Amino acid sequence: MTQPWRWGAEAIVRRVRSGEVSALEVFESCLTRSRELEPNLGAYLDLAADDGRQRALAVDRKRRGGERLGELAGVPVAIKDNISVAGRPLTCASRILRGFVAVESATVVERLEAADAVIFGKCNLDEFGMGSSCESSAYQRTHNPWLHDRVPGGSSGGSAAAVASGVPVALGSDTGGSIRQPAAFCGVVGIKPTYGLVSRYGLVAFASSTDHIGPLTRSVRDGALTLGAIAGADPRDATCSHRPVADLMAGLEEGIEGIRLGVAEELEIDRLPADVYDAWQRSLAALEDLGAEIHSVSAPTLKAATACYYVLCCCEASTNLARFDGVRYGQRVPAETVDELLRASRSQGFGDEVKRRIMLGTFALSAGHYDDFYGRAESVRQALRRELEQAFERVDALLAPTAPSGAFGFDERTEDPIAMVLSDVYTTPASLTGMPAISVPNGRDAQGLPLGLQIIGPAFEDATVLRIGRAFEHQSAWRIDPLEEAA
Ligand code: GLN
Repeated sequence: MTQPWRWGAEAIVRRVRSGEVSALEVFESCLTRSRELEPNLGAYLDLAADDGRQRALAVDRKRRGGERLGELAGVPVAIKDNISVAGRPLTCASRILRGFVAVESATVVERLEAADAVIFGKCNLDEFGMGSSCESSAYQRTHNPWLHDRVPGGSSGGSAAAVASGVPVALGSDTGGSIRQPAAFCGVVGIKPTYGLVSRYGLVAFASSTDHIGPLTRSVRDGALTLGAIAGADPRDATCSHRPVADLMAGLEEGIEGIRLGVAEELEIDRLPADVYDAWQRSLAALEDLGAEIHSVSAPTLKAATACYYVLCCCEASTNLARFDGVRYGQRVPAETVDELLRASRSQGFGDEVKRRIMLGTFALSAGHYDDFYGRAESVRQALRRELEQAFERVDALLAPTAPSGAFGFDERTEDPIAMVLSDVYTTPASLTGMPAISVPNGRDAQGLPLGLQIIGPAFEDATVLRIGRAFEHQSAWRIDPLEEAA
């Protein structure tokens, strides 16, 4: 029998339910594996060994007592460290939250536990989710499991590296691409659900109108299983939808015969580097072989999506991060007066990227500039939504690469914020419009590093997006198994 850390969530649930393996054995296997790799990977800010063991033992006791186990029975789940787990540190990879311990769990964490999952640890990220490489973490670098001198992507880079190497499932957050891009860089599946499908209660806010929580897994089926467990209305999040959640596993194997897939002209995919373009072309051919029709569509505002995202996310960050003042949460720098305390705590607590965004956002929201920046960005966003909705009258889903390249090297883009931002060009449209999007592994770049294919659907058509992802993953000759190669 292979070691349990190699198993996906579905296999773990089946074996734990039948008693073939205990939840504790699964947990120990993932823990040993992750601890072995951690010195070279740096995926975790906190490993919850004792709490995890206790939870795993409780799941095993439940089984022995004849109780029915939940849909994630015994599955270890790593959590991005901007999502609260009661009693565990919550740092957002920022100095300003050093030493802060969460007093309650996020709704998604409560739901995972209700489904008998085992919380595994807290994963590294870009500070407050701001970045695309994990390099803005105040604590450590996370290395790409495929090639250690490359970044894992960001901001959920720790979650992606963890899934590519030692745990079956992690939760990440995606504001402008932070689940999908690191999933692509690490060769795993990343799902950004429709905005409002999953509660954000207990997620530390970065840009509330585009913050989403979603799973990273090694297969689309495991992603659908996890998403099903965390989705659904929550009285503690007013933006969470009350629609009943469809059974996300039900139609997964139905295939995509006759489905219409759109590619937007404005993405100018033919201008990509040859290796990324080749992988893209092969993915279109594979989808056609599966019975899909590929159509060209147009949405001119796509060209403005990333600029629009960066205005809006900075504005929202500047207000959301006002609460970190050295008084209520985390690190306080002592001073003579309250003003000095605020200034010193924030100056020393926040890193450069966070400060840059707070300053840009504050400027963009200031009197006299509000209409030029925030107001204009909001209208760009509405135009984009209208255009994509129109496109969805002709096609069932849109396709795009997840990122314009595979994983890049450390320090390659830190001095040039614009170069960093370019890795988000394909992910920001679904962020701004709240539409569901998945990244599935799609071949390799010239260095042999994983690439991703992104599938975007209309709002609340998460099941369609998953079905296409599943068909592609299942049939594609370019499917990759990160575990075989990262082992
Ligand atoms: N890379 C993007 C940014 O820096 C997206 C981050 C995210 O989705 N949290 O804002």
